[in-house]
Formats: sequence, structure tokens, C-alpha cells
Amino acid sequence: MKKRTKGYGGKVFLVGAGPGDPELLTKKAERIIKEADIILYDQLVGDEIIKSFPDEAELINVGKHAGLHKFEQDDITRMLIKHAREGKMVVRLKGGDPYLFGRGGEEAEALAAEGIEVEVIPGITSAIAVPACAGIPVTHRDCASMVTFVTGHEDPTKEKSALDWSLLAKMSGTLVVLMGVKGIECNVNALLRHGKNPETPVALIERGTTDEQKVTTGVLRNIVQLAKSAGVKPPAVMVIGDVVKLHETLGRGE
Ligand code: SAH
Repeated sequence: MKKRTKGYGGKVFLVGAGPGDPELLTKKAERIIKEADIILYDQLVGDEIIKSFPDEAELINVGKHAGLHKFEQDDITRMLIKHAREGKMVVRLKGGDPYLFGRGGEEAEALAAEGIEVEVIPGITSAIAVPACAGIPVTHRDCASMVTFVTGHEDPTKEKSALDWSLLAKMSGTLVVLMGVKGIECNVNALLRHGKNPETPVALIERGTTDEQKVTTGVLRNIVQLAKSAGVKPPAVMVIGDVVKLHETLGRGE
């Protein structure tokens, strides 16, 4: 193990890797990654960023589904604690920003409860950057004065949803849904059922900010069908609202 000079040993850095494009990694994240003894990273961290990890660092892909085994959240937290207690400089690298979904808050709390020092290095979130790179500003003076970020991972038909879809359907502005591919039909139907205009523009942006970016656009009443025929796969950000219309003029022509 390299000797750290800055008193970083025993500390965990909760770092945002940005939405995929390696140039959207912050300078601070880049510096901290270079100094790490061990890096525990998620599936969503861009390939180019993974390739740039220092040779000396121990690497653990905690997002990998090796066979049936998958790291559970508890395993990850336990590993962070163990390696920090061994005096290592630990980097926990997450896609986008560590505190927007992705359970960063829980990890920081668990570490704090064990008396382990945690420093958060914010990242560029996919929730804003992915639409931006597809020519969609999430707010716009003419058509969206507010923006709401939600997880699409929940089943809206379950009895106790943490999301109030009737409220979301009534809200003006832009709705940005993360982790929304699997549940797209349930979520779109919930919005329609609660009275959201079926002609509201929708965009699905897959692997945004990377060379493989793909955009599928439609309106609320046909987006489920369009997503099926286009074979939309995660990771994707779904943007619902009038700002989607700007994709036509501001997008890269996808
Ligand atoms: N903390 C992350 C989000 C974690 S939740 C952030 O701030 O970006 C994971 C979800 O993020 C995915 O299901 C997808 O909805 C979205 N996502 C992350 N990177 C993406 C990308 N490059 N393109 C499209 N969606 C992305």
C-alpha cells in the first residue's frame, strides 16, 4: 500500500463520477481517484473512467452481477468500513452525483455511525446532464419554471408508494424519471390515469453523454409503445414536459 501524505488514510471519499463522458468527471474527483488505495465502483461509472484508474489501486466492481451473486448494500457498507479501518484511503465511486438516488446518503450515514470520516465529492448528475446533452434544458423560462426528479423504480400500484402520482400528474414544469425503464408502463399509466395530458412530450435518453447515446421521443400516450419498438434499455433518463420539444432544435440530430 502506498503511503498517503495528506492524512487520507482511514477516510472514505464518496465520489460522483458524472454521467459517463470521462470529461465530465470533476477535477477534484480525478485527483482523489489518482490517490486512492482502493476503489469500489458502480456499474454506471463510465468505461473510460474505469480504464484510467491507477494501477496501484485495488479495484472492486460492486455493481457486477457475477453469476447469481450480487453485492448487497450491506456487503458494500461492510467493505467500506473494513478497508477504512485498515487505514486505507477508500474511494466509493458512484455514477452521476453520489447523493441523487443510488443510496449515497445511506452509505454516508452508515460510515458516520461507525465514526469513519466521510467526504463527499459531488458529481454532475445524469438527471440534468443527460437531458442537456440531448438538447433538453430541464427548465426554460417559456415552458418550465420547475423540475421534479423521481425514481421510476417503484411500482405505483403497490399499496404504499412513496410517490404521489396524482400530485405528479398535476404538477407543471418538467418531470425527470430515473431508473424508469422497467416500470415505464406502470408509471406512464399512473400519470395518464391521474389526468396528465396524453399529448405531453416525452423523451427517453439511453446512455446519455456517451458515444452510444440514443434518444427516443414521443408523447405520453404513445411512449410505452415507442420504447418497446425502439428496444429502450437501462440506463435511461425519461423527461416528461414541454421542454422535450427543444430536442428538435437543440439536439445532436438523433
Ligand atoms: N446518482 C446517479 C443516479 C443513480 S440512479 C446520478 O446522479 O446520475 C441510476 C439511474 O441514473 C439510471 O437508471 C438512469 O435513469 C440514470 N442514468 C445514469 N447515468 C445515465 C446515462 N449515462 N444515461 C442515461 N441515464 C443514466
